[in-house]
Amino acid sequence: MLLYIHVPFCRSKCAYCSFFSLPLSDELSLNAYVSLLVEEIAFWNRRLGRVAVDTVYFGGGTPSLLPLVGVERIIHALDAAFSLQSGLEWSMEANPESCGDPEYLRGLKSLGVNRLSLGLQSLDTALLRRLGRAHDAAQGVRIFDLARWAGFENINLDLIWGQPGQRLRGWLQTLTKALDLQPEHLSCYGLSLEQDTPLAREVASGKVVLPAEDEQAKMFLHGAELLESKGRIQYEISNFSRMGYACLHNQGYWEGREYLGLGAGAVSTLGERRWENPRALPAYALLVRSGQVGGQAQELTPAERIRELVMLSLRTTRGLELNAYGKLSGRSFLHEHAPLIQVLRQNELIRISDGRLRLSKTGLLVSNAILERFFATD
Ligand code: SF4
Repeated sequence: MLLYIHVPFCRSKCAYCSFFSLPLSDELSLNAYVSLLVEEIAFWNRRLGRVAVDTVYFGGGTPSLLPLVGVERIIHALDAAFSLQSGLEWSMEANPESCGDPEYLRGLKSLGVNRLSLGLQSLDTALLRRLGRAHDAAQGVRIFDLARWAGFENINLDLIWGQPGQRLRGWLQTLTKALDLQPEHLSCYGLSLEQDTPLAREVASGKVVLPAEDEQAKMFLHGAELLESKGRIQYEISNFSRMGYACLHNQGYWEGREYLGLGAGAVSTLGERRWENPRALPAYALLVRSGQVGGQAQELTPAERIRELVMLSLRTTRGLELNAYGKLSGRSFLHEHAPLIQVLRQNELIRISDGRLRLSKTGLLVSNAILERFFATD
């Protein structure tokens, strides 16, 4: 099973962020939150027994705001509640402004965190300021060096392309600087303009302008080319890794494995049941203390499961296994969508081989539009 732990606190809110995050008021709220996580972990042990867990992922928010003693309490609780498998991948997201203390990073490593995902987002300070990030480019590089010093041998860098004021040249320069650091993994996300964020309002008012669509397309395609020329394999729309360093947790999620999400706002899927913990801390606390977590689960319908299989597997470069689709739906994907598949093949947006249907590089760029068409002909 995959285990996800959500830490919803951030020091400040970034201008483009629509993730679930709360301002961190004080250390006390972090400690109280850790206590709730520990309670929730024990609850799942009583409910499921010592289930085998092979990946743990601390996401947020900003998990690196957790003090070492809090991380230690959580890992002890996990160890007591689950059967943590040998070779466990334990990822933690960290933001440069919250983990500048070398001893903190060394402490994480010695507690067992073995994959660090650094939220750099850019290596251009002017762009970082516009995104409302709390760090600058130099801090980003420094954190990477500190993480290496602390012994991390599996580091991901999160970067964003398509930012206001960014040009293709600037994006490729950022990627080149990032590659100079020699990370094992890079996640390169296209900026998505989310409603009701300060950045969306600035764009709507014309105060800032996003790169034109064709410039953004070049950033995606030329960026992927550059990364692949430097030995990084694209295994999902936004994810590139050295051979053997794909993120097992995210891969499991795209493969439709079961995952248990702990913490406020965390989502879980066990068997055909899915639920989301309440986002508001008082409601989450109430649920944990009353032993009602998971009680609000919804049964996934067969149509939802089929849709997810298509959506998640077409994000990856392994693509959709046609037999798996047939088993789940009792139908043939190729027959069902024959006219659309013909058009997509003619336009070199998909490829079919070895029993799999995959999106080409250009297909990945327009994956949302392709998925919409597949679902429209369902
Ligand atoms: S650090 Fe991440 S989660 Fe927190 S506000 Fe910024 S983008 Fe959102």
